[in-house]
Amino acid sequence: MTGPRSASDPVHIIGAGLAGSEAAWQIAQAGVPVILHEMRPVRMTEAHRTESLAELVCSNSFRSDDAANNAVGLLHAEMRRLGSLIMRCADANQVPAGGALAVDRDGFSAAVTRALQDHPLIGLERGEIAGLPPAEWDNVIIATGPLTSAPLAEAIRALADENALAFFDAIAPIVHKDSIDLSVAWFQSRYDKAGPGGTGADYLNCPMTREQYDAFVDALLAGEKTDFREWEANTPYFDGCLPIEVMAARGRETLRYGPMKPVGLTNPNDPTVKPYAIVQLRQDNKLGTLYNMVGFQTKLKYGPQQQIFRSIPGLEKAEFARLGGLHRNTFLNSPKLLDGQLRLRAEPRLRFAGQMTGCEGYVESASIGLIAGLYAAADRRAQALAPPPTTSALGALLGHITGGHIETIEPGTRSFQPMNINFGLFPPLATPPTKKPDGTRLRGPEKTVAKKQAISARALSDLDRWIADHLHVAAAA
Ligand SMILES: Cc1cc2nc3c(=O)[nH]c(=O)nc-3n(C[C@H](O)[C@H](O)[C@H](O)COP(=O)(O)OP(=O)(O)OC[C@H]3O[C@@H](n4cnc5c(N)ncnc54)[C@H](O)[C@@H]3O)c2cc1C
Repeated sequence: MTGPRSASDPVHIIGAGLAGSEAAWQIAQAGVPVILHEMRPVRMTEAHRTESLAELVCSNSFRSDDAANNAVGLLHAEMRRLGSLIMRCADANQVPAGGALAVDRDGFSAAVTRALQDHPLIGLERGEIAGLPPAEWDNVIIATGPLTSAPLAEAIRALADENALAFFDAIAPIVHKDSIDLSVAWFQSRYDKAGPGGTGADYLNCPMTREQYDAFVDALLAGEKTDFREWEANTPYFDGCLPIEVMAARGRETLRYGPMKPVGLTNPNDPTVKPYAIVQLRQDNKLGTLYNMVGFQTKLKYGPQQQIFRSIPGLEKAEFARLGGLHRNTFLNSPKLLDGQLRLRAEPRLRFAGQMTGCEGYVESASIGLIAGLYAAADRRAQALAPPPTTSALGALLGHITGGHIETIEPGTRSFQPMNINFGLFPPLATPPTKKPDGTRLRGPEKTVAKKQAISARALSDLDRWIADHLHVAAAA
């Protein structure tokens, strides 16, 4: 039997990576004790090499630090305003990297480890949590990341249905809708089928001639690919998740009989000519700002991806919100399984954070740890916490994970796939800027820049108001 909980009972966090470390800091700073469980060095993952907390497993970059023009730079700025430990330690261990924020990885992890170990309200326990947490842990954050140990992953999977947790991602590129040439691509579902929740015109279609298709297949075969890591190659994956270039290698016509089949579609710009192949893009988010390239998961390197996919008619000027990939990963079908505060609907004492929720990247993982920590602390103090504004980077990412994604039922891979922060996740501006400060009209790319800057300014001002109204923390200048 457990008695009524008080603010002096600890929140348990499993996994002291980017998300778990940030969550622990936020909770302890709110005056609530934390026990942080980390399995390293007792048990290592395939990618971690040290016992330090918040180890960076690959690159040492937190990407762009430009808060005015880049969505991840904006997320940096928001996290700094929220007193982020990860950002503080990154700033203190910065190494020169142009407009990016890159860090000395050992100095960064050592600083995070020291700050957490020295905090009087944080206890660090080394050891694997090899199954569901004990029932008496009533407020838990699971932040065990893409390489969650198998016994815990299996226990989580058993809590929901077998599609609840994926062990591989299969990421198709996502394109900003406003960069697609709608004088070439047209809206139509195959055979005009409406399907559940559809209109019969849910896809954007890009037509290809035989010559274009042949050149495209050649480019896929020749394009430079990323290799699977040895431990990834041992993880089986299914035909439904085959990279597009592997399908192309199985035969010249394979793609025309697969994701690029030209049947059931008529090009309104040229109705009498049947395209030889068609690339379909499907709406990805409820806002309707992002479209994913159906069936285009790939191991091509990012440079060749952009070059090859921009050869598709209608996508010549495509701006990619996300490029394709295929990796070993562990992530939930969050829009279905989690509530707006990242709690498992089926067992609300369990809250998730970090890459497991379907965000992608060091900064995004830490930011979801940050908001999970704020929610867990508010719960423990029996206080309600209003959601962060949907216009902020934090709110936009949280909203996408917990409900902004459009679920589609199709054979093959699950449609919810990991996502970086990007401007396509933000609600559009009510009145997009049309003029420069001097009153002259904005032209071409100037409009895009001005739009991003207006979205960023709105984000920071709305976030500051939220902080002042709900967190009573003085916003940093
Ligand atoms: C190989 C690889 C390379 C990547 N490279 C990059 C990159 O270059 N840039 C980028 O932005 N993102 C990269 N990512 C993606 C992602 O940003 C990182 O994985 C990030 O560390 C995720 O943060 P997290 O807190 O969710 O998980 P992690 O930082 O992995 O933290 C999870 C922690 O949980 C611990 N743990 C796991 N299971 C248990 C258990 N049962 N009990 C107790 N502890 C447990 C782990 O030891 C680990 O410390 C990469 C991912 C992988 C797998």
